Amino acid sequence: MDTNTIKPYSYIAETYSRFGITITRGSGTRLWDDKGRQYTDFTSGIAVCSLGHCNPHIVEAVKAQAERLFHVSNLYWTEPQLKVASLLVENSCADRVFFCNSGAEAVEAAIKLARKYGHDTRGPDCFEIITLQGSFHGRTLAAITATGQPVYQRGFEPLPPGFTHVPPNDIRALELAAGKRTAAVMVEPIQGEGGVRPLTDEFLQAARQTADQLGALLIFDEIQVGMGRTGSLFAYEQTPVEPDVICLAKGLAGGVPIGAMLAREEAMKHLGPGTHASTFGANPIACAAAGAVLEQLLETDILRQVREKGQYLMEGLRKLASRWDKVKEVRGRGMILGVEFKKAMPDLASWLMKEGFLVLVAQGLILRLLPPFIMEKEEIDRLLDALYRYKSSNP
Ligand SMILES: *Cc1c(COP(=O)(O)O)cnc(C)c1O
Repeated sequence: MDTNTIKPYSYIAETYSRFGITITRGSGTRLWDDKGRQYTDFTSGIAVCSLGHCNPHIVEAVKAQAERLFHVSNLYWTEPQLKVASLLVENSCADRVFFCNSGAEAVEAAIKLARKYGHDTRGPDCFEIITLQGSFHGRTLAAITATGQPVYQRGFEPLPPGFTHVPPNDIRALELAAGKRTAAVMVEPIQGEGGVRPLTDEFLQAARQTADQLGALLIFDEIQVGMGRTGSLFAYEQTPVEPDVICLAKGLAGGVPIGAMLAREEAMKHLGPGTHASTFGANPIACAAAGAVLEQLLETDILRQVREKGQYLMEGLRKLASRWDKVKEVRGRGMILGVEFKKAMPDLASWLMKEGFLVLVAQGLILRLLPPFIMEKEEIDRLLDALYRYKSSNP
């Protein structure tokens, strides 16, 4: 297909504002476009390709599985699904896994579980889910309603009932919002899309306590911060609490579409046969990829690298911030880091792209870095150098 004459991009729905490049190849921390230009990827495809592009372990697992079995539906067991489920359960506070294909579906499954659990244990009036302002939980109707940002909801009303939002880290507001209708409290331990905003230990403890007092569920949306991103397999491991439900997706299969909703048996037993389903859920190829990702995270020193190189990048950014008036704050943990500016930096991402770096910007205001865990210190240094150059043209 000649992309210059027939402009196939005009066939695509314009739901995204895109950078005008076409990526054709990836390897490790690098991507190449159709003009042969090389980029160092500080986005990991939005926290997905955390072990690098075309990671050989994942490629090998996917190839082998593709030659063996693509799909059989959930009427039967498959080996890759059992392996991933057992690795997730054996290494978390959860007891069972429901597989789906994306983050929004994992959130949707958690919302359905919370409602079913609320109905079964406390009656039909117990269906409300408390989430946080500035949160992001995905794009299905229920997920945009859970998402505490009106910009994602406008024009799609009427939204499903049963969601309340409170400001992050506001314990009093949470306690006031919670009551006999509350089926669950759902939070991201670090808000990702919302601009890399960590929740305080005190707030998470209050959320745990509130849920316990009511008999409600505490749901952690770890779709962005799970799977090693913060330096532990799950982000909750670095907080003082354990959730009842964990949503995973993005990094779980290193770039193959997958989602998972993990829960304690006490909750998950309320989703019996016929209550929820997904044709593609636990797809053998996706699960083979997830199995390879989990093996890498559990059996190599990659999580230590996330902590160490994340710290290195954080220190570099803090040093830059101390010399740059325009920076308001540097935040994050492990390899999810944000630099908030006092004023919007509308050209920062495209300027860095011309310099050969791919980065994310949240709300025009926050540089969000989600590098692959295999990013080398020299590559981090080169990004920091580029940021210093940008700074000298924007003092
Ligand atoms: C990306 C994201 C989602 C949505 O995932 P999709 O796969 O795009 O549906 C939900 N929650 C969080 C925290 C996310 O970062």
